[in-house]
Amino acid sequence: MAWDFSTEPEFQEHLDWMAELVREEIWPLETLLEELEWDQIMRAIEPVQQRVRERGLWAAHLDPELGGQGFGQVKLGLMHEILGTSPLAPFAFGNAAPDSGNSEILALAGTPEQKERYLYPLLAGDLRSAFSMTEPENAGSDPTTLSTRAVRDGDDYVINGHKWFSSNASIADFLIVMAVTDPDARRYQRASMFVVDADTPGVDIVRDVATMEHPWESWGKYGNHAEILYRDVRVPKEALLGAEGAGFLIAQQRLYPGRIHHCMRWLGVSKRAFDMLCEYSLMREAHGSKLSEKQTIQNWIADSAAQMQAARLMTLNAAWKMDAEGVAAARREISLIKFFGAGVLHDVVDRALQIHGSLGYSTDMPLEAMYRYARGARFYDGPDEVHRESVARQILRGYEAPEGPFPSQHVPTRRAAAREKFAWLLEAVTSND
Ligand SMILES: Cc1cc2nc3c(=O)[nH]c(=O)nc-3n(C[C@H](O)[C@H](O)[C@H](O)COP(=O)(O)OP(=O)(O)OC[C@H]3O[C@@H](n4cnc5c(N)ncnc54)[C@H](O)[C@@H]3O)c2cc1C
Repeated sequence: MAWDFSTEPEFQEHLDWMAELVREEIWPLETLLEELEWDQIMRAIEPVQQRVRERGLWAAHLDPELGGQGFGQVKLGLMHEILGTSPLAPFAFGNAAPDSGNSEILALAGTPEQKERYLYPLLAGDLRSAFSMTEPENAGSDPTTLSTRAVRDGDDYVINGHKWFSSNASIADFLIVMAVTDPDARRYQRASMFVVDADTPGVDIVRDVATMEHPWESWGKYGNHAEILYRDVRVPKEALLGAEGAGFLIAQQRLYPGRIHHCMRWLGVSKRAFDMLCEYSLMREAHGSKLSEKQTIQNWIADSAAQMQAARLMTLNAAWKMDAEGVAAARREISLIKFFGAGVLHDVVDRALQIHGSLGYSTDMPLEAMYRYARGARFYDGPDEVHRESVARQILRGYEAPEGPFPSQHVPTRRAAAREKFAWLLEAVTSND
């Protein structure tokens, strides 16, 4: 029997240490986000970063030769559940998006020169990066429709295109750009990835797009999403990441583990919102009793607990499968958790916000920000609908339509077959002697 839902005691010690560090040192800093500049916040978390390095938990998503721990997805998932509780926590642990995913791309596909120039400074926190794939004119959920082109010209490539929602691009030192290198190739071999310095002539960061999460237009802040025009951006052929046409293959290697990390982070957010829900239910009194004594609120608590438990087990199962059988083998499990986890995050935060009434709607509580953050989870890493469709397609491959006019479980047809198959038995059991 190999089913085991426990965590090794030594690793649990790391998790307990992390949870306390995040709660005691990072959560309080969140409240100062509005009054400090981003660089000041980053300086304020330096002592915490130092403690994380000393503990050996810095950039744990990477292999040991790159300074990580080579933990595998289950352990990383458990760590991300803690880091997800605060938007600042991933910075303290050297694995904030999109730098963490981009470092994985560089580790996977980068040449020794690219690693030297981009990866190691990225890991050291000396450079910042962005991932630039989605385009306003084309469906991001179907990246085979990309129209940004990279055309070979002598020893260079020349990139032209229009992107948006490139998170952090306005503060990035370099961008990983997905562009079509061969429009006539098979769908998933048309695009390639390039490392492009942000100050390369022709890279025009038009604006940071205001969003539901950050509704006021601002420029050059962490977490912003940039619109970018690439106009005759000339890069040397050494800027190509991996082989020409390998863009989707590399993206898959990055996105699949990234989805596990996202889902576990969402559980961290959900749990924090859930704690607020429970706490407030015990504080607030209305119509003659505590909110915790109302059946609706009890249903919310029980439903939230069940949904979070289901999402957690599903996500850890996907992580386990990825560790055991590789990234591609866990495709279905990852699609399942992507839309299920995003839904759980939304529902739990929504209930926690609702119980707080106008206090929940106000910025006096972190719930309204969590709610706005939660809504984006249903788009990025692929919209819910696409993941549902993918799951359904994979499942349906295991079925086929029966021959004949009736479903295979049609009772009259099965009854007739049973009568024929067991004729001798029926005769024996229905005879009178
Ligand atoms: C917070 C955030 C951060 C992001 N960061 C980045 C980043 O760093 N880099 C980057 O390149 N991109 C980024 N994106 C973009 C993101 O990857 C895209 O938004 C996503 O891929 C969806 O693409 P789209 O917005 O073009 O929607 P579309 O693909 O146009 O889809 C629109 C809607 O159509 C529906 N739909 C699509 N396909 C189907 C289907 N098969 N069946 C039924 N309905 C369907 C869905 O409801 C979907 O929401 C980010 C987005 C967000 C919200």
